[in-house]
Amino acid sequence: MNYFFKTLLVIFIGLSGITTSAQNTNLCQGHYYTEKEGADKLKKLLTTLHTKNDWEKHADSIRKQLRRGMELEVFPTKTPLNPKSRNKKQLDGYTVEAVVFESLPGFYVTGNLYKPSGTLLNKSLAIILCPHGHWDQPEDYGRFRNDMQSRCATFAKMGAVVFSYDMVGYGESIQQEHESARSLLFQTWNSIRIVDFMLTLPEADPNRIAVTGASGGGTQTFMLTALDDRIKVSVPVVMVASDFFGGCFCESGMPVHRDGNKVYSNAEIACLAAPRPMLLISDGKDWTKNTPAVEFPFAKSIYKLYGKESLIENAHFIDEGHDYGKSKRLAAYAFLGKHLALKLSNVTDKTGKVDESFVKFVDRKDLSYFNEQELVSLKKGDAIYKIFRRTLPSKE
Ligand SMILES: [Zn+2]
Repeated sequence: MNYFFKTLLVIFIGLSGITTSAQNTNLCQGHYYTEKEGADKLKKLLTTLHTKNDWEKHADSIRKQLRRGMELEVFPTKTPLNPKSRNKKQLDGYTVEAVVFESLPGFYVTGNLYKPSGTLLNKSLAIILCPHGHWDQPEDYGRFRNDMQSRCATFAKMGAVVFSYDMVGYGESIQQEHESARSLLFQTWNSIRIVDFMLTLPEADPNRIAVTGASGGGTQTFMLTALDDRIKVSVPVVMVASDFFGGCFCESGMPVHRDGNKVYSNAEIACLAAPRPMLLISDGKDWTKNTPAVEFPFAKSIYKLYGKESLIENAHFIDEGHDYGKSKRLAAYAFLGKHLALKLSNVTDKTGKVDESFVKFVDRKDLSYFNEQELVSLKKGDAIYKIFRRTLPSKE
């Protein structure tokens, strides 16, 4: 993963004026604060938050800036999704198929739908969205990574309908480059439409919808949770920090963190989840190393204003690094199992430990929907932003 390179790239391009014009001075990117500045800012903010209403007023200002900053102050009209699927495979206790649908007319969300098989399918099922983050090496790539397949298959076998989807510009999502000024806008709109798509499935339970992803997928997790109250549970992994604002266009390439003199850190944005259950997963080797001492106590104080302290948790892995590895997945299985009423026992061995060995890793080509010829024929680049503009409701 070249996350640090991307941090430099986004700052360079931001400074060179390629991003959305006249808004660049409002961008807060990468390590915008020092660790001390980030922590002090949260402490100071807490001195102004005495009641739930104090927080909700602040949260409302953050939400408004998120929508304004990512050009989603007005949502586009929700147009027909026209979902299509191919390559369905029956595996051990679950199925996986390639699915595409249109988040805007002619603009495709591409991904894999995992479902439990057998009698569980006759029940109302929880929904889990799984964004993948910036892993882009051929052997360790996006939604096709083994750890993504392990996570999605295990959630499915536990009794959830799961969607694993390409970030804009990754995998089969080739219509819009990832390193482009509005990838945050398109990714967020895609996430909102993925919830719409999942709710069209006959098994879907609208009261049990969750999202979890690591790194850039963690950013997608807390951004979607902040903007869409259909999300009931969230697990942002190795991303939420008071000092680091995200290093890619799809995280901090639009002015979502700043409104004039007011700056909103990712730690504050993540707390827009309150009082919905949230698990912060952090580690000792990246910008989430201070979570147990800084971001988690802050979040706990916010949840306390609702009398819901028990709904915010932190799983910290001090000797681990920036990934969504097995120990972090185990924490997510337990938390989502508890809050979405999933059957953890479907994936545990005799000793009660989760055993992922049933997961069959499927090749990238067998998880894909489009063939080469179809990919070539898709609309690309500026055409997509024009479609977005045309899909905004008229002001009359
Ligand atoms: Zn990105």
